[in-house]
Amino acid sequence: MIIILLGPPGAGKGTQATRLMDKHGFVQLSTGDMLREAIANGTELGMQAKAIMDAGNLVDDNIILGMIGERLSSGASDKGVILDGFPRTIAQAEGLDAMLAEMSLGIDHVIEMQVDEQMLADRIVKRAAESDQVRDDDTVEVLQKRLNVYHESTAPIIPYYKDKGRLSVVDGMQAIKTVASAIDNIIGGQEV
Ligand code: AMP
Repeated sequence: MIIILLGPPGAGKGTQATRLMDKHGFVQLSTGDMLREAIANGTELGMQAKAIMDAGNLVDDNIILGMIGERLSSGASDKGVILDGFPRTIAQAEGLDAMLAEMSLGIDHVIEMQVDEQMLADRIVKRAAESDQVRDDDTVEVLQKRLNVYHESTAPIIPYYKDKGRLSVVDGMQAIKTVASAIDNIIGGQEV
């Protein structure tokens, strides 16, 4: 099973992805985590990506597709995959479709987590205050930029998946547990 969690930064995609991983044994593929790992390891890619991420912009589509392709072809999809923070552009969505078609796989569910953007700003401030490892992109200024990028580049993939009949929407403003049951209802309690 392949599930995409979609929503603006701070919508709770990571939290729900981790929960789905624990509950259903899915593999979570988070392009943001992969990029942060590359930065921590001091790789060439990490060094290039850091400035882009700190400014709240998007990393190049081909780099992102390459990272995801590597994971999918190394068997990540066998266990069921939850895609968190990917795809973020129409080009990434199309690239993913092409990759999955080659593997005779398809997307089962695209779940859009809808949230109030003022609440997002509050969540980001809270996350920055609570975390020992403060992310350089976890500030209200960068959040504003990331929200603009979301509206311009990522939101257009919502109608893309709606047209394909894959889209479901959950209210991400609810308690984590309530959002979790809404997601479980969508995926129908299906195991991998
Ligand atoms: P995230 O942890 O998903 O919020 O991602 C943090 C940052 O990593 C984003 O603001 C982008 O700069 C970069 N990033 C993560 N995923 C992608 C993606 N699919 N496409 C382009 N850039 C990405």
